[in-house]
Amino acid sequence: MSLRVPGPTPCPEPVLQAMTKQMINHRGKEFAELIVHITGRLKELFQTESDVFILTASGTGGVEAMVVNTLSPGDRVLALSNGVFGERFTAIAESYGADVQRLSFEWGRAVEVDAVARALDADPSLKAVLVVHNETFTGLTNDLEAISRVVRRYEKLLLVDAISSLGCIDLPVDAWGCDVVVTGSQKGFMVPPGLSFVSVGERAWQAHAEAKMPRFYWDFSKAKQFLEAKQTPWTPAVSTFYALAVSLESMAQEGLPNIFARHQRVGNRARDGVKSLGLSLFADEAYASNTVTAINSPDGLDTGKLLGLLREEYGMVLAGGQGKLRGKIFRIGHLGYVTEDDIEEVMGALRSALPRAGLSF
Ligand SMILES: *Cc1c(COP(=O)(O)O)cnc(C)c1O
Repeated sequence: MSLRVPGPTPCPEPVLQAMTKQMINHRGKEFAELIVHITGRLKELFQTESDVFILTASGTGGVEAMVVNTLSPGDRVLALSNGVFGERFTAIAESYGADVQRLSFEWGRAVEVDAVARALDADPSLKAVLVVHNETFTGLTNDLEAISRVVRRYEKLLLVDAISSLGCIDLPVDAWGCDVVVTGSQKGFMVPPGLSFVSVGERAWQAHAEAKMPRFYWDFSKAKQFLEAKQTPWTPAVSTFYALAVSLESMAQEGLPNIFARHQRVGNRARDGVKSLGLSLFADEAYASNTVTAINSPDGLDTGKLLGLLREEYGMVLAGGQGKLRGKIFRIGHLGYVTEDDIEEVMGALRSALPRAGLSF
């Protein structure tokens, strides 16, 4: 079965094999070497000199950790939203009592940087900005470099959900001044679900010192204190650490510029392929994502039937739309362990399955 959803992504065989190793003591020497090595590699991928922590959690846990570690109940925050993951980020901040001002954009359109500047200008009490770098739901990459420049100008804290971009699309955390950035193991890292990685910069530590949202499991102070002893505060997902060590080695060998270029090529191939089938992209193409492509379901196409056929007869799993986009779009995940040939396979299957699901060419 070829899994072409935007997470979990397929894992290379050596990564899976690594997970069959026997357990080790997470308070012992072997684990100490493992976490030091992995953390160093992750810093290279985050392009940061700041702290990077490995949390045993899916990506959403990492997003929650960013919020509770840097904010207090009642803090005014600006949440940029142009899809389901932006909405989730907002909901997390609200559930911990942040006073959230939403700045929403049409789904499939990018966050408008000027609107962010106007919102920050209008309300000096805003403390932080929440943004999703790559909106997996609509297949769109926001212009994080421009957004972070504005956020820096207004000296606000910038919290970034980079779960479906980091390690695939360039995100130089330090160069862009992103204060807290989170990603997850099952997206670009070619590792099973279970780990979330988060970078915490200097300004974020200052905010952390005053932040009063309740936290225990997620507490960055505990993570830092234990990392100094080459441990995690709580029992980590040891097997997923084994897998991560192997995949980070192969990512280091490929090299960041090559990884970004491969995702660019794969993204181009996906978009060209979709258009050559006579289909259209859901997202504004100027911001189309190199990790996931969302495609409009044209009139006459039974999207549920298409996805079922692809799965049952072509051995290929694509993603549907969620929420109000159910039945209206479908999505190809192309992040992590993926090549242009894999995309060709998807296009071949689509060419054959689309007419069977009601689309006449
Ligand atoms: C996948 C994803 C999430 C959610 O991650 P989980 O690991 O399912 O908790 C959040 N944000 C973005 C942008 C994602 O792609």
